[in-house]
Amino acid sequence: MRALPVTVLALCGLAATACGGTAGGQASANRPAAPAPAPVAGAQAAVVSSQPLKGKVVVIDPGHNGGNAKNPKAINRKVNVLTQWKACDTTGTSTNDGYSEAAFTWDVSQRLTKILKQRGATVVLTRSDNNSVGPCITERAAIGNKAKADAAISVHADGSAPANHGFHVIMPKKINGPVDPVVPESRELGVDVRDSLAKVTGLPYSTYIGVKALDFRNDLGGLNLSTVPKVFIECGNMRHAGDAARFKTPAFRQKIALGLADGLQIYLK
Ligand code: ZN
Repeated sequence: MRALPVTVLALCGLAATACGGTAGGQASANRPAAPAPAPVAGAQAAVVSSQPLKGKVVVIDPGHNGGNAKNPKAINRKVNVLTQWKACDTTGTSTNDGYSEAAFTWDVSQRLTKILKQRGATVVLTRSDNNSVGPCITERAAIGNKAKADAAISVHADGSAPANHGFHVIMPKKINGPVDPVVPESRELGVDVRDSLAKVTGLPYSTYIGVKALDFRNDLGGLNLSTVPKVFIECGNMRHAGDAARFKTPAFRQKIALGLADGLQIYLK
């Protein structure tokens, strides 16, 4: 059902990834005697040499942490997110059969890191494994600020009613606080990420939050305290059977990472 050729074209246009392999059949029609040797290697070389994100800093914030559930005291500590006091961090959600949001966001973030580094970006992660606790949402924002990120993205998946599905992007609102100057740029980043994620993955817009998958909030510490352009991506609903099945598939997580990388790259130009 999904238009695979469109996806392939989108990837090719952005970074020439996977162009050699998947588009080879069409290309060979225009190259009469070409034996098409090592098309994949050629495409990879093009990506490495072009390095479209060289000089750009991207901070990736994998939501939650695998050790949070065992350390309620640490993560329930209240922190000031300017519009309210909230828990330092939360356990996150999971699919009905126990695939945790923390494991999902960690995996997608690892894949996204690899792609962005291949494209030349400097990548900073807000946590270094999926077995520890936190950091607090305030610290997650501070890491992006300290890195002077050109763009920051917090990766999540939702835990909503089973009938709800699809992805949405959360962007900051003005709160008469530090995030105010980057609210317009964060919106731009959010739209680029939404467009690319939909194009590359075929994931539908959220059926239950936002307008065309765009939502704005002033209660998230990770956004309120950010002084760099930042968005949250809620990749879908882990309690929806269809979304959950996709999330549990490594190849689909790779597509999500590609969609996010392309969106970041379009924003960073
Ligand atoms: Zn989450």
